[in-house]
Amino acid sequence: MISERMFDLGSRRSAIRELFEYGKQAALTVGEENVFDFSLGNPSTPPPEEFTETAMEILRNEPPCAVHGYTSAQGDFATRKSVASDLASRYGAKISPEKIYMTCGAAASLCIAFHALVSSKDDNIVAVAPYFPEYRVFVEGTGAHFRATKPDTVSFGIDFASLSEQIDEHTRAVIVNFPNNPSGALLSSEALASLAALLREKAATFGAPIYLISDEPYREITYETPAPYLPDFYPDTIICYSYSKSLSLPGERIGYVALPDGVSDIDRLYAATCGAGRSLGYVCAPALMQKILAKNASMTSDFSSYRENRDLLYSALTALGYSCVLPQGAFYLFVKAPNGDAVAFSEKAKELNILLVPGDGFGCPGYVRIAYCVDRGRIERSLPAFAKLIRILR
Ligand code: PLP
Repeated sequence: MISERMFDLGSRRSAIRELFEYGKQAALTVGEENVFDFSLGNPSTPPPEEFTETAMEILRNEPPCAVHGYTSAQGDFATRKSVASDLASRYGAKISPEKIYMTCGAAASLCIAFHALVSSKDDNIVAVAPYFPEYRVFVEGTGAHFRATKPDTVSFGIDFASLSEQIDEHTRAVIVNFPNNPSGALLSSEALASLAALLREKAATFGAPIYLISDEPYREITYETPAPYLPDFYPDTIICYSYSKSLSLPGERIGYVALPDGVSDIDRLYAATCGAGRSLGYVCAPALMQKILAKNASMTSDFSSYRENRDLLYSALTALGYSCVLPQGAFYLFVKAPNGDAVAFSEKAKELNILLVPGDGFGCPGYVRIAYCVDRGRIERSLPAFAKLIRILR
């Protein structure tokens, strides 16, 4: 016997991966320069030089068995100390290194946080739409129910009426992501204050904490306004972070879960975090990455090319008649499907070798996601195809 659920998950690729694989095949026939692949959020700016130099120095000068050996299950203390001081200098955050758990990227951080909180199959976790599609897989992997709000398609903030409806006595956490994948929106201070008030009210009504999970892999990639620090608004916040995008190294798998001072039941929650990491096999995050972060957890890649891409794509597409909200961060543009059907639009775009991900899997039908973390040439070459596409649809 095998698990039907796992068979099902493993037999179907995500819509994003499906398109990415299609693009690779199409490139073999029409040439890579004629495929406008905007499917995957793979960073296109290199890691900072300091990162590479630090890695080389560690590899050359430190004893190999120490460099590549096991660390503590929850991560090296020096690494956690460095992460805590980065958060303190960035946000004035009060987070003890003893309450940080190093992980293999945000996917692991989220799975650990969900498993640490879910205690019954009646539990649920609510995502604010649009959301990263894997949330559903990760939540359902705990046995709990995945719920989502309706999307707010005016500003891609929070539909509070819908959020209020989704939360009940079985809600263990609400998850938000900003700057948002797929919309690029940031949450305003007003929205965060309202969110905190709603969660406090619900927690009081149901007599148990409702944690806010803040999924922050794009935290440093903002264009006009820096990202807010959620524990300032709502102390029961669990931070799930990844260096995949900020250091441009998604293949190296490094991130963390952080529990700020003031989180309810913090000691037991941290023990449950360690227990979840243990039961999922997410112990001892990649040692070389930890050693690099121990020396400097504050460096980031240069994001100026993302801003240039955003400006170019936003102004060119809106001039052509496409409709979208100007992203404030991350590297995605969320464009309204001109005919209202994102799947049909994405299929039509595919005929012109433009690869766009339908918003349906993000809980927001009617929109497509364009990942503009690509070289500028690809965007420039794609514009005549985007012009042709909107002409066809009209
Ligand atoms: N959360 C969001 C919103 C993401 O966009 C991603 C990856 O693209 C992840 C989590 C997973 O990140 P990681 O690759 O660090 O596991």
